[in-house]
Amino acid sequence: MMQQTLSFLEAIPLVSRQARPDGTVVRAGPNEVGRSRLAIIAGPCAVESEEQLLRTARAVKESGATFLRGGAYKPRTSPYAFQGLREEGLKLLALAREETGLPVVTEVMDARHLDLVSSYADVLQVGSRNMHNFSLLDEVGRFDRPVLLKRGMSATLEEFLLAAERIAASGNAQIILCERGIRTFEAATRNTLDLNAVPFLKRSTHLPVIVDPSHGTGHWWMVRHMARAAVAAGCDGLIVEVHAQPEAALSDGYQSLNPESFDEMMREVRAVALAVERLA
Ligand code: PEP
Ligand code: MN
Repeated sequence: MMQQTLSFLEAIPLVSRQARPDGTVVRAGPNEVGRSRLAIIAGPCAVESEEQLLRTARAVKESGATFLRGGAYKPRTSPYAFQGLREEGLKLLALAREETGLPVVTEVMDARHLDLVSSYADVLQVGSRNMHNFSLLDEVGRFDRPVLLKRGMSATLEEFLLAAERIAASGNAQIILCERGIRTFEAATRNTLDLNAVPFLKRSTHLPVIVDPSHGTGHWWMVRHMARAAVAAGCDGLIVEVHAQPEAALSDGYQSLNPESFDEMMREVRAVALAVERLA
């Protein structure tokens, strides 16, 4: 007799919505993701210098960000591009947290760096390129640190949820899912931001869902529009690249907001949030 295949929700017993109908709130430092107040994670693509990070961190805090982002280990396509300041970058993130009070979100690219990165980070980011790195998922699952899991650029929503299930199965259910755009035939934008993911994931899982309109579009001037759309679609927060001087950025400057445009985005996002009974 043919073996019956498990229904999709049975394949994700730990993260399916049925496991926790009320939804999970992920706590990091003094802040939370998954309550009515939206989580706003903002900061540079990469930590570049003390001045760059502190100027950016102060500005995003002033405009209402609730978390600081910044990569110290950068998964760059070219081995010759800026790879990040590594431990020096982690130290600068800790300095910025001390000054602003914002909890820090930063990427861990390799399980060998987990002890080091988690000694500085409040939230461990697993990037799009690593969503299928099962040994890394298993390892972050063994850590007592919230995880921000980004959708693989070619991953289906089912594969994305199974990656989250893998982290939870290793013992860590403090997971935030992030839609960051997928690869399609469209070349006018860096990725196609799949906002279908938001209502689909919110229905399928109890985990909070956030959206990255920076990598999702690849154009700074599109970010505020897709940020508003993401909030209208029901996400629990946003992760946005902001740089004190985007034209001088060492990575992703073309999709980074300057402090003034981030402030404008926040004002617009607040209006949409109110309309859908959220706060920002
Ligand atoms: C990032 O957040 O800077 C990043 C590298 O994102 P992604 O993994 O979604 O490409
Ligand atoms: Mn980036």
